[in-house]
Amino acid sequence: MKILIIGAGIGGLAAARALGADGHEVVVFERADKLRTEGAALTLWSNGTGVLSALGVPTEGLGAPVDVLEQHSWDGKVLLRVDLAHAVRAYGHPHLSTPRRDLIQRLAVGVPVAFSRTFTGFDQDEHGVRAHFADGTTESCDLLVGADGYRSAVRGQAWGADPARPSGWSTWQGLSAVDIEITTSRRGLMILGPEGMVGLMPAGNGLLQWWFDLRWTHNPPPLRERFGHWASPVDQVLDQVRDEEMEFFPHYHFKVPKVWSSGRVTVLGDAAHTMPPTVAQGGNQALEDAWALARALREEPSDVRRALARYERARTRRAALTSRVASAEPANQYRPTLSRLAPDAFLGPIYTRWLRMVSTYLGTHAGR
Ligand SMILES: Cc1cc2nc3c(=O)[nH]c(=O)nc-3n(C[C@H](O)[C@H](O)[C@H](O)COP(=O)(O)OP(=O)(O)OC[C@H]3O[C@@H](n4cnc5c(N)ncnc54)[C@H](O)[C@@H]3O)c2cc1C
Repeated sequence: MKILIIGAGIGGLAAARALGADGHEVVVFERADKLRTEGAALTLWSNGTGVLSALGVPTEGLGAPVDVLEQHSWDGKVLLRVDLAHAVRAYGHPHLSTPRRDLIQRLAVGVPVAFSRTFTGFDQDEHGVRAHFADGTTESCDLLVGADGYRSAVRGQAWGADPARPSGWSTWQGLSAVDIEITTSRRGLMILGPEGMVGLMPAGNGLLQWWFDLRWTHNPPPLRERFGHWASPVDQVLDQVRDEEMEFFPHYHFKVPKVWSSGRVTVLGDAAHTMPPTVAQGGNQALEDAWALARALREEPSDVRRALARYERARTRRAALTSRVASAEPANQYRPTLSRLAPDAFLGPIYTRWLRMVSTYLGTHAGR
């Protein structure tokens, strides 16, 4: 089958690898003139790294493993501790905090990408789809996959008006050489206070993935003024990161529908389920989509529409659940009394169960 994928982000590249490995003729069209590697770091949980192993993407030396997540209050008290390694033992796949550029570069190996090609629209009939580009060219295919992110043009035509809305929260984030204990540990820290949430994760090679979640309406809110009075290590992080390392991202979300496809056209990744990064699943869910789409086409090789219906059955419910939880911005709620009531011993198993609830891949492969 000839398959065109719009967008060379995590979802598009993963889908190209999965579909190409099944013998489909796949080309990715990307509007940027090279791979987009900005965006600091991201956390891949056992579901995302499980999909990477299924796609043959090596994870050795990718970022840093994370086995424990602690929640602290802004003034330095430990509120709770989650044994994340419980899920690693259950599923056999690590949690990794990795520079985004490293993940993108590994996913892109062997994937044909046509750069500087901006998709503008499609038309289709029962025989195929024609994708149109800003340079006036048209490409024909049997299946068109929109992996073109939170303002997806493919989704815009297939679903109608853009549903993505700001959630009222935002993130300042970066990847920096910050000399604190967390940077070389296997431990993530989430620090909460009335001003918002600070996340710190080791990302390998002496780098720290750091982010500040805070409320947002119009202009990017000032970072150092809001969090400057927080206890260590937040003060050390603010001292050591440089202004040019800071990236600002408003959070967007929408209600994930049950139907993603229209005829021979479908969507995946943020195009299908833009969600705030508070449960760090957007990229993991994009990997899940890519894997599930390839599997559905293997199971229904002679009927694209049936394959897409199968893909949706595998993905929409789990992506919708993930998006609903992420949109409630749970990681940003400062409730120290409630946090202290949560018994640490239960949190590892609860997290393991949560991952399976939002994962098609683990639900299929993790009998252990
Ligand atoms: C601050 C922040 C932190 C995050 N942290 C995590 C995390 O820890 N874990 C996690 O799993 N997720 C995280 N996410 C979410 C994750 O980054 C996204 O869910 C993921 O990158 C989505 O990948 P995608 O391939 O669907 O879309 P994108 O990465 O947006 O890729 C879309 C691609 O399509 C291209 N494109 C767009 N329009 C067109 C067009 N018309 N024609 C051609 N090409 C086009 C774009 O240039 C882009 O390359 C985070 C997000 C943010 C903002």
